Amino acid sequence: MKNVTVLGAGTMGNGIAHVLASHGFNVSLFDIAQPALDKAMGTIQKNLDRQVSKEMYTAEEAQAALGRIQCFIDIDAALRQADLVIEAATEREELKLQIFRDLDSKAPAGCILASNTSSISIGKIAAVTQRPELVIGMHFMNPVPVMKLVEIIRGYKTSNATTDAVIELSKALGKTPIACHDYPGFVANRILMPMINEAIETLQTGVAGVAEIDGIMKLGMAHPMGPLQLADFIGLDVCLSILRVLHQGLGQPKYAPNPLLVNLVTAGDLGVKSGRGFYDYSGGLKDAPVAYLR
Ligand code: NAD
Repeated sequence: MKNVTVLGAGTMGNGIAHVLASHGFNVSLFDIAQPALDKAMGTIQKNLDRQVSKEMYTAEEAQAALGRIQCFIDIDAALRQADLVIEAATEREELKLQIFRDLDSKAPAGCILASNTSSISIGKIAAVTQRPELVIGMHFMNPVPVMKLVEIIRGYKTSNATTDAVIELSKALGKTPIACHDYPGFVANRILMPMINEAIETLQTGVAGVAEIDGIMKLGMAHPMGPLQLADFIGLDVCLSILRVLHQGLGQPKYAPNPLLVNLVTAGDLGVKSGRGFYDYSGGLKDAPVAYLR
């Protein structure tokens, strides 16, 4: 495996492209929006510079990594050489199904099709392709250059060879792959999202404010970040989509998204990426922990 196409250049796509390129893989980064590609390349450059300043890479190595990433808005060209596709587009089921139908018809035969989905069924995605044995979940964590875990999700028809190949790739990227079966939310989000939803419920019912809830969870549970700040980093729209998948897929009221989360997303307050969520990021990330929402 040498050539990897990353589909979607948002929060996760740029991180995945960064890690692949800095470990010697050739990356074709595709997005439907040119501004997303431009922004991704700027972010990758900035993050590589930070790694150089921390002496993780030399300036020459960082430059070489950047040179291994090519941007595309033409999907056929982006897929031409692909041994593996990692899809990291917006978390919407109909969109992912359409993308995988398209990928199946355009990607080379034998090319593995992986999805970075946080919650959407890998079996459902695989079922729209003619190569379900080559479809798998590769769930990287945010921020990708920093976080060690890759949650590997096997659909019912995913082959052992495909599973082994993505496990080997994850290890080659310096990550720790851990496999699980294909149920709504898999493992990470099945457990994380109800906690975030409960934190929002705790806020909405006036038990405590944003800073207090996050402070109690950080100090009390030794979490590096409180659940509301973590939700801002993940993206409130992404959290809402995942909770809807859990609610629908597992059929229990405890997974119903809190109405405050729905209101924030409807209002366009999506967290870090929109500049405002449970915290206000207009002064930059460093000054963020001043909760505006009480
Ligand atoms: P994002 O909103 O930051 O980026 C999504 C990108 O997909 C955008 O640049 C958009 O232009 C692009 N896109 C939309 N339609 C497309 C298409 N048809 N083809 C190619 N690109 C398309 O989203 P994100 O947070 O990077 O999430 C991407 C995926 O990663 C989702 O499935 C999400 O659930 C998953 N994920 C997110 C996180 C997180 O913390 N944000 C963590 C793990 C997994």
